[in-house]
Amino acid sequence: MDLQAVLDSIYAELSPRLGEGKVADYIPQLAKIDPHQFGMAIATTDGKLYSVGSADTGFSIQSISKVFMLTLALGKVGEGLWKRVGREPSGTSFNSIVQLEREEGIPRNPFINAGAIAVTDVVLSGHAPREAIGEFLRFVRYVADDESVVIDDKVARSETETGFRNFALANFMRAYGNIQHPVEHTLGVYFHQCALSMSCIQLARAGLYLAAQGTNPLTGHSVVSPKRARRINALMLMCGHYDGSGDFAYRVGLPGKSGVGGGILAVAPGIASIGVWSPGLNKVGNSQLGSVALELLAARTGWSVFGD
Ligand code: GLN
Repeated sequence: MDLQAVLDSIYAELSPRLGEGKVADYIPQLAKIDPHQFGMAIATTDGKLYSVGSADTGFSIQSISKVFMLTLALGKVGEGLWKRVGREPSGTSFNSIVQLEREEGIPRNPFINAGAIAVTDVVLSGHAPREAIGEFLRFVRYVADDESVVIDDKVARSETETGFRNFALANFMRAYGNIQHPVEHTLGVYFHQCALSMSCIQLARAGLYLAAQGTNPLTGHSVVSPKRARRINALMLMCGHYDGSGDFAYRVGLPGKSGVGGGILAVAPGIASIGVWSPGLNKVGNSQLGSVALELLAARTGWSVFGD
């Protein structure tokens, strides 16, 4: 299959629609982003790379970082992590508070904000916030095999100043003992992980370990066991798009994780890792055109995990 031709056809089809959706304006720094942008990259497990549009432009990966932080936390505490966070789809928005009270401070899954904040709190154990941020950045550079990945401090600061809902979620969990560090410390790490700036190409490469049974086939770096890679993919499929996860599975059929910066990391197990970016979001906070692009990709390649 000519994957470059597939990407080119997707780009051509979406070009007239660039600008659809709404940028995430609740984070002031992200509100400034031009929504008329689109990039997509595919890194295959046999070592090839294909890209189209602004695939080399860095963007704020936001919640996609939750996949990497989850990987790091599982490496530290293993299955014990599931005492702090569940593994079920939430059916509520990414920053919902109401479910957290009903379920006594244990978030539904590691990809909604509350769950990700609890996971970050686990990684923070035994470290100063600055060290945990450094450890996280080193880890992402390692999985991406790219030392040029950076954190955008302006985005981190912007969210620190305005992330009142996240403070509410974290304080709530602290009241139940599910946040064990000062809330400012845990959120300091969380806002910096979300502010990671990466391009579609970097993201596609960073996701290769999930597409290739836990080991990056380009570098030979073993990141997680095959079993853990499979399980992270399962969580991404069920929970990676918040209350849009069912629709994403229905339309695309691939494990995926979105972020409010407009990026999506998708995994075709055994085949490829895909990074796509377009800043305009749909009603539930997932990239509008990024989702359509992945739907077209799945249709044209037959890569859905449910068959073609
Ligand atoms: N940093 C964002 C927040 O906490 C991440 C949300 C997202 O990407 N869905 O609100």
